[in-house]
Amino acid sequence: MSETSPSEVLDVLDADATTEKRATWEAFEFTVLESGAVKVVNASHDNPDDHQYTVHTGGRIPTDCTCPAFEYQKGPCKHMVAVAIREPVLEAATAKPVLKADGGVVVERRATDERPDDCDCAPSFDGLPCWACYRDGFEVPNPDARADE
Ligand SMILES: [Zn+2]
Ligand SMILES: [Zn+2]
Repeated sequence: MSETSPSEVLDVLDADATTEKRATWEAFEFTVLESGAVKVVNASHDNPDDHQYTVHTGGRIPTDCTCPAFEYQKGPCKHMVAVAIREPVLEAATAKPVLKADGGVVVERRATDERPDDCDCAPSFDGLPCWACYRDGFEVPNPDARADE
């Protein structure tokens, strides 16, 4: 486990106070991808899928984000800060395949689109995955779902 604490990561990022506040309070959901990148969904929005971005990390520091704010503004965006201040997420993004972080949080890395064996999604699901998919960190129904014959 690295010795870099979340506050030290924040010092490196040097985000402004507003960005830090939004990163703390908005309802983000995180999925650590096989590549180590972190998919960040802002569940505060009515259409979370439209507010889904990918944060890349390097040496435990979020380095960039795919959102417009990071592209057009100076400094880190709230997604990068949101990853930085959640140590289990940051640990998982930089750790070996399976990691037990401090506090008993278990984050398992998985392939980007590998659905669970007990996936129960159906095409009629309107934007929400089945319980098995949700448990495994998917925020949308299985695109390969078939209607029951
Ligand atoms: Zn961003
Ligand atoms: Zn499913």
